[in-house]
Amino acid sequence: MVTGKRHKQQVFLYDRSASPWFQMDMAAEIRRALREDEFQLHYQPRIDLKSRQVVGMEALIRWEHPRYGSIPPSDFIYVAENSGMILPLGNWILSRAEQDMAQLERQGMKGLNIAINLSFKQLQDPTFCDGLPRRILNWKSARSQLEFELTETAVLSNPELVKKTLVAISDLGVKISLDDFGTGYSALVHVQEFPISIVKIDKSFVQRMAKDRSALTIVESIIGFAHRLNLEVVGEGIEQPDQLEKLQRMGCEQGQGYLFSKALPLAKFIDYARKANAI
Ligand code: C2E
Ligand code: CA
Ligand code: CA
Ligand code: CA
Repeated sequence: MVTGKRHKQQVFLYDRSASPWFQMDMAAEIRRALREDEFQLHYQPRIDLKSRQVVGMEALIRWEHPRYGSIPPSDFIYVAENSGMILPLGNWILSRAEQDMAQLERQGMKGLNIAINLSFKQLQDPTFCDGLPRRILNWKSARSQLEFELTETAVLSNPELVKKTLVAISDLGVKISLDDFGTGYSALVHVQEFPISIVKIDKSFVQRMAKDRSALTIVESIIGFAHRLNLEVVGEGIEQPDQLEKLQRMGCEQGQGYLFSKALPLAKFIDYARKANAI
């Protein structure tokens, strides 16, 4: 059953999405929401598949709109990207992630990695790119615990600027992962040209593995390919024990997914990690 509220929300989100106003409204709403502090970061645990310990988390943005309820990132990130709002929003994400890491450490959770998604629009912006190394130098927690997730599109959108930026930040000890791996144009050769150390297998492959032999073969070859290039592999969207078991058997190092946990508010993430790691 679709509730009235949910229904209304979807009318708002999808029926107007084709019109340019939708973006104007939405961009203004994002600006307002930033001012009124309506965004939150939630954290999805990242698990070491061998030890089953929490080794880190991915920051995922959440928006609880006072009128429309929770709006998923897939409905507003692209508006933020097309309107330029992704720059202030992305800066907010970085600051909040930094504060939350400090909070985590104050609570005795040391050594966890934090992965932050970067939009291709942030990486196309010279001011953002120029400022990023300094931002990282001033980062309150260990730089070796910081990771940025980028898609292939982001890497290839402005290869020269992106390469220069990625080299600069990886020289500072930050890790870079390639998100949604296997989707997109898969210009795999480019992986070698950028300082990437982790690939995240897209959840669509992980989820098709059980029924679809070709998905299984793709995952197997991604893992083999990644390992030959000395990259670590993270499996995304693990929902079923057999998906976990297959990934583990193929040598995938880490995983995320609803089988372990969805993204949680910081306090709940801390509870989860304490329990999982027995601290
Ligand atoms: P993504 O970076 O590929 O993030 C993974 C998405 O898969 C998240 O959706 C997460 O909640 C969801 N997910 C995790 N485990 C499972 C699972 O087991 N099954 C299924 N079906 N889904 C799972 P979410 O939070 O809705 O984010 C969607 C996309 O929005 C992200 O895809 C990312 O591209 C973008 N996004 C989210 N937060 C941020 C952010 O802070 N900055 C930027 N630039 N983009 C963000
Ligand atoms: Ca991601
Ligand atoms: Ca992903
Ligand atoms: Ca994605």
